[in-house]
Amino acid sequence: MTASNTRNKQISIGDDLRSLPASTLQSFPIFRNTALAVVTKHLRDCRVQKYASGTLIITPDDHNLNVYAILKGQLSILHDNSGSEPLTVLGPGETVGEISVFDGQKPSAYVKATQDSELLVISREVLWDMIDDSHEISRNLLHILAKRIRSGNTTVLNSLQLQKQHEREAQFDALTGLHNRRWIDRTYEKHFRHSIEDNSTLCVIMIDIDHFKIFNDSYGHQAGDKVLQQVATAMKGKLRPNEIVARYGGEEFVILLPGVPAKIAFMISERVRSGVEACFYHDPASNKKVPITASLGIAQLEPGDSKESLLKHADDALYQAKQAGRNQTLVFKSF
Ligand code: GH3
Ligand code: MG
Ligand code: MG
Repeated sequence: MTASNTRNKQISIGDDLRSLPASTLQSFPIFRNTALAVVTKHLRDCRVQKYASGTLIITPDDHNLNVYAILKGQLSILHDNSGSEPLTVLGPGETVGEISVFDGQKPSAYVKATQDSELLVISREVLWDMIDDSHEISRNLLHILAKRIRSGNTTVLNSLQLQKQHEREAQFDALTGLHNRRWIDRTYEKHFRHSIEDNSTLCVIMIDIDHFKIFNDSYGHQAGDKVLQQVATAMKGKLRPNEIVARYGGEEFVILLPGVPAKIAFMISERVRSGVEACFYHDPASNKKVPITASLGIAQLEPGDSKESLLKHADDALYQAKQAGRNQTLVFKSF
C-alpha cells in the first residue's frame, strides 16, 4: 500500500485508535517504512491514554512497563521533579520509555506531560512482539536508541562544560580575571603549612588602591571597575609565575611569595607599585589623565606566627604605608 492511498484511511484497530489516520501512525519514527498491516496487527490491543498537563508518566521510583508514543501534546524529560529545565522536550510522533522497557531497570529520568496529551501506550509484550515480527520496527528502534545515546552524550558533555565553568567561577574573580579570595585563602593555607613544615620563608604583600572611594565618587563606579581591571593586568605583568597574586576583595589584592625573604619581597613589591603607578585613567570629560596609585604592606613569616598574625602584620604595614603618605611599600617591623 502506497503512502498516497493510506493518507486518509482510518485504522480500525482498537476503539481508542479508530479515529487515527493511518498516515499519522506511519509517520512516527518507530513505524517508519513499516507495512500498515503489521502496525495495525500489533496495535490492535493498545490503548490511548489522556494525560492532563503536569501529570508524571514515568518516574525513576517505579519500573516502567510501557513505551509511550505521543499522539497529541508534549512530554518533557526531566532529571528531577523540582521545576528544573527539561533535558528534552518531545512532541507528536516521538516515543519514550524504550530504554527502561528494554533493560528492565528503573527509568533514569522523569517524563511529564507538559501539555494536555494523548499517548499511545505500547506494552512491553507488544513491543517485543513487534521486534520479533518486524525487521523495520527493529531498525527504527535501533535508530531511536542511537539518537537517544547521542543526545545523552551531548547532555553529559554540556554538563561537564558547565561544571568546568562553575569550577572556574569558584576560583577566579569575574571582574579582573585574577584568582579570587576563596582560592587564595586555600592557597595561602597550603603555602603557610609547607613553610612551617619545611622551615622555609614566606612573605605576604597586601595591596590597596589609594583613595579609591574618591575616585569612584568623581568618575563613577564603571570607571572604577575599569581601573581595577587595569591595575590587575599591570600587577600580573610585573609578577613571575611563582609570585602568586589574587583579588582579596574590593580594591585590595594580595601577593604570596613562598621561599622569598622580605628584602626580595620589597623589590617585587616596588616593581608592582611602579606598575600600578604607570596606570592612569583618562577622564573623557576633562580630557585629563587621572593618576592611579596603591599602597603595599609586607610581612615575612616569623617564628610563632599564625596564618592570621602573618596576614595581620601585612595589613598593619599597609596601614602604615597609608599613614606615611600612600603610593609606597612598607615592611612590617615587630619592634
Ligand atoms: P585608602 O587610600 O585609605 O585605601 O582610601 P580608599 O578610598 O581607597 O578606601 P575605602 O576603603 O574608604 O574605599 C574603598 C573604595 O573601593 C570604596 C568602594 O566603593 C570601592 N570599591 C570596592 N570594590 C569595588 C569594585 O568592585 N568596583 C569599584 N568601582 N569600586 C570598588
Ligand atoms: Mg581598602
Ligand atoms: Mg583603598
